[in-house]
Amino acid sequence: MIPSKFEYFAPASLAEAVSLLSKYQEEAKPLAGGQSLISLLKLRLASLKYLVDLAGIAELNYIREEGAGPSGTISIGALTTYAQIKESKLLQSKCPLLPQTASVVGDVQVRNRGTLGGSLAHADPAGDMPAAILALKAELKAVGPQGERWIQADDFFLGMMETALSPDEILSEIRVPVLPDHKMIYRKAARRPSDFAMVGIALCLKARDDQTCEEISIGVTGVTDKPYRAEETEKRLRGKKLEPKIIEEAASAITEGVDVMENMHASQDFRSHLARVYVSRAIAAAGIRS
Ligand SMILES: Cc1cc2nc3c(=O)[nH]c(=O)nc-3n(C[C@H](O)[C@H](O)[C@H](O)COP(=O)(O)OP(=O)(O)OC[C@H]3O[C@@H](n4cnc5c(N)ncnc54)[C@H](O)[C@@H]3O)c2cc1C
Repeated sequence: MIPSKFEYFAPASLAEAVSLLSKYQEEAKPLAGGQSLISLLKLRLASLKYLVDLAGIAELNYIREEGAGPSGTISIGALTTYAQIKESKLLQSKCPLLPQTASVVGDVQVRNRGTLGGSLAHADPAGDMPAAILALKAELKAVGPQGERWIQADDFFLGMMETALSPDEILSEIRVPVLPDHKMIYRKAARRPSDFAMVGIALCLKARDDQTCEEISIGVTGVTDKPYRAEETEKRLRGKKLEPKIIEEAASAITEGVDVMENMHASQDFRSHLARVYVSRAIAAAGIRS
């Protein structure tokens, strides 16, 4: 189908893009990789008067390390594609969760065009990257007419395709911590390799040699209307020896307090079961012997 008529802008700078969004507010939207927005427009599930294409803004595409040592961070421009994240040697060595997760998003075409910023701003309840961003406790930089502000990943996803961004703000950067000594794993249950997650579990885990869990954070996607941190499961594992019984008991809390989705891909029971199984598998993949 053909989208309804809109006016197209191709700003060359972030400031120019912000000023366009500020001028047109709800009648405008930024376009990144177009892997979600173009389909919505073509299917006429969304319509807008002004489209602000971010693709020409080179200052939004980078991956760089800021500061060394345990308190170092890696900054990623919002226009960085899944393919760039997957191939990044810096991320592979210092934040392997992101390349792992990016490598199972959609297919090659989607990974070549789709962007990290677009994925997070779109906030699909089954999107893969949001789970990783939650597990990493990332910080997200939003730039709007009033300047910039930082949003914690935990505060970013508000509901079904709803985020803390306002219509005149652009997500410009995602900052993740460098976490040496952490194992990072993403496990995704999907019907076919290029499908969205029925359940996706992103795990950052630091355990001692005796397998006591020192630090853990778990991001979950595909289960409810928004990606979330599995705080109850984390609590039941933190400070505990990661033995099968403890892991099983903690995994049983993975959907606690959450309204589990039901759709043609999975019933509530099956999806809850998948979440329990996949969090246990993620912990096992982190090298915990059980
Ligand atoms: C065939 C197919 C399979 C897919 N499979 C998967 C999958 O397995 N897992 C998965 O997670 N996703 C999947 N996707 C979705 C894909 O990940 C999209 O790329 C992603 O959801 C949006 O990223 P984008 O850069 O294409 O954003 P766009 O489609 O350009 O934009 C999406 C939304 O975000 C807003 N936006 C974009 N960038 C910004 C920004 N910097 N600041 C503020 N707002 C912004 C736009 O206005 C729009 O509302 C699939 C898509 C397709 C077509």
